[in-house]
Amino acid sequence: MMQLYNSATRKKEEFKTHTPGHVEMYTCGPTVYHFAHIGNLRSYIMEDVLEKTLRYTGYDVNRVMNITDVGHLTSDADEGEDKMLKGAKRENKSVMDIAKFYTDAFFSDCEKLNIKTPDVVQPATGLIDDFIHMVEGLIAKDFAYFAGGNVYFDTSKLDRYYVFNDHNEEDLAVGVREGVEEDTNKRNKNDFVLWFTKSKFEDQALKWDSPWGVGYPGWHIECSGISLKYNGEYLDLHCGGIDNAFPHHTNEIAQTESFVGHEWCKQWFHVHHLNTTGGKMSKSKGEFLTVSLLEEKGYDPLVYRMFCLQSHYRKGLVFSWENLDNAVGTFNKLIGRIANLKPGDDVDQAVFDELKAKFVAALENDLNTAQAMTAVYDVLKAKTTDATKLAVLADYDYVLSLDLLAKAEAKRQENAKAAAAKTGGGYTIVGEGDPAIDALVMQRYEAKKAKNFAEADRIRDELKAQGIEIIDVAGGAQWKKI
Ligand code: AMP
Ligand code: ZN
Repeated sequence: MMQLYNSATRKKEEFKTHTPGHVEMYTCGPTVYHFAHIGNLRSYIMEDVLEKTLRYTGYDVNRVMNITDVGHLTSDADEGEDKMLKGAKRENKSVMDIAKFYTDAFFSDCEKLNIKTPDVVQPATGLIDDFIHMVEGLIAKDFAYFAGGNVYFDTSKLDRYYVFNDHNEEDLAVGVREGVEEDTNKRNKNDFVLWFTKSKFEDQALKWDSPWGVGYPGWHIECSGISLKYNGEYLDLHCGGIDNAFPHHTNEIAQTESFVGHEWCKQWFHVHHLNTTGGKMSKSKGEFLTVSLLEEKGYDPLVYRMFCLQSHYRKGLVFSWENLDNAVGTFNKLIGRIANLKPGDDVDQAVFDELKAKFVAALENDLNTAQAMTAVYDVLKAKTTDATKLAVLADYDYVLSLDLLAKAEAKRQENAKAAAAKTGGGYTIVGEGDPAIDALVMQRYEAKKAKNFAEADRIRDELKAQGIEIIDVAGGAQWKKI
């Protein structure tokens, strides 16, 4: 049974779903005004591992994600300029062009990190009518009011305006409004905007007609509206980075539960930050690292994925080039060890099941990916056949998604080429990394050189019987399994 820390109760709990065996999962998606930095991607990597763990352990999952292409202001509270408009001005492009460009860039980064695309991906601008309908419903139930041109959620109408308060000061600071004039339309300090028609930034590019005038939705309403549409009224699991907890998730809970009239989501999963030595990595600071930059510097994006898996999602993770270089060393050694395993078909099912159980136990322990990575080394050390080890690693890799076997195969071929280059005598053998076969190919060459064609043919037949085909090429031979 999956034990998962729940930010809403601040406890590790058994994961339960509304419908047994089925998970309705929602993830706050990116604000597409800039490239995602590797901090954002830490959150998406860990959420991907969570989704895959649930599928791996037998759940059927419906995962929904929004794309924020309108309404997210430069502060997570209701102040500041629209982030999308800021991006468009910076690059002298239209808001829609900016959204398309950075949405594509986001999914291309995800692909490089083996992050699966959610079942439903919905840009906020595609569902404005649903948000308007929800705001109307909140007004009708007296949970929202119109003042000074905007519609606000009235937090005083709730018995408990839920605040996630288990995270540290640094994370909470995003919700605190400093040096910003107070919005005098608000009845209560925590009230938040559901629909804007008046903001200090009159040049808002995207606007829609609404019962309250031409304007645009607040940021929080999009996640509620999108989740209600695609996940239904009972959400099992809501994910995001820890900075989303307050005020964003707090406000999502307030408006959704008021709208549907019952508890909405039981389980909240928050990934802690990737920090640099200078503090939290953030897009607005302008100094951030992207997947493309890692690639430019010669790093395999999957090394970054492994770097994230090596530590727990509920702890801050410090990024430094030195730490990433250490991960490169670990990754290469791991691939090297897997490359030394000999493929075969003698899989020991009992050992396979035992090793799988170890891996599942690590993941079901509040997604302990560091422990799951240790299980990989336990496989390599296990007293069993190489075929069993390879089968287990292929199975683990559904969740880890590090391309372990494909990379090991590439490494084997690289080793074979390196070995072949050493064969000498001007005769180069390129094979699949099996020294015994290389030796037979070499014997055949020697036989041919000595004009002992019968012996050369005999060796060719012997190799054929083992399922090996030899192709004579200029300056040597190539062999492959057929
Ligand atoms: P945004 O595109 O800014 O809306 O953020 C996308 C996701 O990344 C959200 O779930 C954020 O909570 C998360 N996030 C932002 N900064 C970091 C960070 N430094 N480390 C981990 N996750 C982050
Ligand atoms: Zn959200």
